[in-house]
Amino acid sequence: MGRFINRKDPDYHSRALELKTDADLVASIVLALNFTRRIKSQVKSTQGLIQNDCVAACFTPEGLWLAANSQSIREPEVAHLREELCDHEMDIYTVVNGKKNVMHAEMQLLHELLSEYTADDIRGLEMGVSKPCCTPCREELDKFGIRYSAYHNDKVVNWQKP
Ligand SMILES: [Zn+2]
Repeated sequence: MGRFINRKDPDYHSRALELKTDADLVASIVLALNFTRRIKSQVKSTQGLIQNDCVAACFTPEGLWLAANSQSIREPEVAHLREELCDHEMDIYTVVNGKKNVMHAEMQLLHELLSEYTADDIRGLEMGVSKPCCTPCREELDKFGIRYSAYHNDKVVNWQKP
């Protein structure tokens, strides 16, 4: 599932934008809001840091779930997101793992969903991501039948299983 996207392609950014679903856009909005709060001085070296973080978002019948690689989504972003989505009643849950780890946002979110729901409940849900999934994340999402829009096949380091 999902479409392959080559990150080395000169058209990468426009292609990535084309493939984005609403859930991907939600993840991208949260990433941008979070980055703006955390990084006060916007210079070239700090602007590049946004590439290192990733946000995953999943709508379930109970509400919207969010996770970030950096585990740093806070109430200001959640409040701002409610404004953006024009939905002040929406239940929004943020995944916070107890230990400092290097688990990708997708896997943190998958881990949390599996502790709240059965595998049957989450089959067919869509996970929005602020950038295309890596291969190991993609394989885990496929295993549980979770949909996502795009993936790449560049090598990743420090990948951690959910
Ligand atoms: Zn990944």
